[in-house]
Amino acid sequence: MAESNLTGRVVGIDLGTTNSLVAYMQGDAPVVIPGVDGSNLVPSVVALDPVAADGGRPTVTVGNGARKALIETPELVIYSVKRLMGRGLEEIHDELKLFPFRLAEDEDGEQGNVVPRIKLGEMRFTPPEISAYILRQLKRNAERFFGAPVTQAVITVPAYFNDAQRQATKDAGRMAGLEVLRLVNEPTAAALAYGLDRAKEGTIAVYDFGGGTFDISILKLRDGIFEVQSTNGDTHLGGDDIDNLLLTIALDEIHAEHGVDLRGHASAVQALRKAAMDAKISLSTEDAARFDIELPNGDRYQREIPRAVFEVLIEPVLERTAGPCKQALTDAGITPEQVDEVVLVGGSTRIPAVRQLVDDLFHLAARGKKPHIELNPDEVVALGAAVQADILAGASKTTEEMLLLDVTPLSLGIEALGGTVARIIQRNSTIPASATEHFTTGVEGQTNVAIHVVQGERELAADCRSLARFDLKGIPPMSAGLPRIEVKFLIDADGILKVTAREQRSGQAAKIEVKPTYGLTDEQVESMILDSFDHAEEDFAARLLIEARNEAETILTLVERAPENPAWNQLTDDEQAAIAAARDRLVAVKGGTDQSAIREATLALDRTTQRFAELMMDAAVTTAIRGKTMDAADEDLGEAINAPHPMAQAEFK
Ligand code: ADP
Ligand code: MG
Repeated sequence: MAESNLTGRVVGIDLGTTNSLVAYMQGDAPVVIPGVDGSNLVPSVVALDPVAADGGRPTVTVGNGARKALIETPELVIYSVKRLMGRGLEEIHDELKLFPFRLAEDEDGEQGNVVPRIKLGEMRFTPPEISAYILRQLKRNAERFFGAPVTQAVITVPAYFNDAQRQATKDAGRMAGLEVLRLVNEPTAAALAYGLDRAKEGTIAVYDFGGGTFDISILKLRDGIFEVQSTNGDTHLGGDDIDNLLLTIALDEIHAEHGVDLRGHASAVQALRKAAMDAKISLSTEDAARFDIELPNGDRYQREIPRAVFEVLIEPVLERTAGPCKQALTDAGITPEQVDEVVLVGGSTRIPAVRQLVDDLFHLAARGKKPHIELNPDEVVALGAAVQADILAGASKTTEEMLLLDVTPLSLGIEALGGTVARIIQRNSTIPASATEHFTTGVEGQTNVAIHVVQGERELAADCRSLARFDLKGIPPMSAGLPRIEVKFLIDADGILKVTAREQRSGQAAKIEVKPTYGLTDEQVESMILDSFDHAEEDFAARLLIEARNEAETILTLVERAPENPAWNQLTDDEQAAIAAARDRLVAVKGGTDQSAIREATLALDRTTQRFAELMMDAAVTTAIRGKTMDAADEDLGEAINAPHPMAQAEFK
């Protein structure tokens, strides 16, 4: 037992979909802490004890024990809960179509949001509560190993996890009695485990093929700092699919050769699934694997699977990882040759055919390179988390300075005039991130501005995801376009978005913090991005039309008010009539959908008001001479000349 004198040790945790692990830094090297049964991997499976389940305090089993319970009491077992973390009711419904879990009927509301609960026997649990059981088991394993309490941890999450999913993971940590010092992206952790940060510069691809998910991440290392350049993947692709292929063959053959249809027998299927997985695992090192199973009718099903046959069988599954890899490279703006290092993560990368595919995808052999496989692929993320934990514990001097950066999966912005989106933080920005933009009012004497925070890639707010709404109130009445409203977005290292709006003339301010409890699935993130490509043209047209209408509205408001201005009376009757005619033409086309007609009519009206603008300018200069500052006069001019549009000048920090 190691270093029991040490207290306050920070551990690194890989909270996986299939397996979870806890690791710590032993001297210079990260090491995985084994569980009571001696195994490093703790299956991410939670089972409720059937006896205690009928009333009384529930006893819960986590890991291999819980996985065994899948055969006896499948209704009391939950697995793959990571898929449900930080996600809303509808998304869970979709996900649950693939799982045997049931949702509790009555949902509790919290801050207007629904917290979904999974029914397990008579009990109901939120996804973070289930994850907390797994974390508590890992914490217990570590405490047993150290002989001392463990209260602080670094936990890894997929790079694409959104704010809600990250928050849910932190909540799980807290419920397990762990202070989560930081969430680290899984690919970043893997790169850290290999000490790739020591190279200072470079591009790293992390290919993570686990039990049920596939993730590809492109990291950029600059001055020893990792940035996630792009991520891609498939949330329903992994070793399970390979197990299913073998399972299907076995079920079909058993049916055909022995006349036994096992599909109805849950426990027989579970046993066969286990045999399929064992066969798959042995095929990673052997040339052939054997099925040898006793059937309920006493027959034996015996079958040899040569590796060559296996490879042909799984090729379509492996091939599905190629598309996301290519897309991630494209998104990062690089070619395969520009990838300096490839790190293999996830148990399924032990399959030789997977390694071959990776080699081909990144042209490794041709460049005399090899992917990193020196560390156990199913441990490497936890090992990296331990490295990060050690840095945060302050034990390591050399890596102390190191920062780990994450990215925002989708763009963030606010709804601007006419329902368009003013994007403030672009997708794939590294966080912490902050950006400021300036806006103004579109209505005369407007004292209240509604700020609508949206997330997504589409041009119109209605097509994006609504994150929050708040009002900036108490703006002194001013002409449209005169208030200067500064909107600041700040995403902190924990992924919390803070939005502040301040009217700079009056100092009125309002702010909101968005902790989305209703999360997005990564498929949704993906489809939101794809949607924005699919709709790019029509979105662009819609935006042009809205902008044309906004401009028309602006100039019409000014023309409406023109007679109040002393300069108006200096115009001849003809000039006034020309303005009126141009105004009527614009009013006539404004409601139509022909943006170029609206633009032309706007320009025509603008031309007829040219002399009026000059007369106003003269008046403004006279005002300036009478003692007003030139600045103020400029602003008066600004009101007359500039459209009260959002001023789209981003100041990126
Ligand atoms: P996750 O990150 O999804 O929690 P892991 O990285 O632990 O999952 O990978 C689990 C998957 O790896 C399972 O499908 C398991 O069967 C598979 N696996 C583990 N070892 C091997 C092996 N030697 N050959 C092939 N597949 C393996
Ligand atoms: Mg994993």
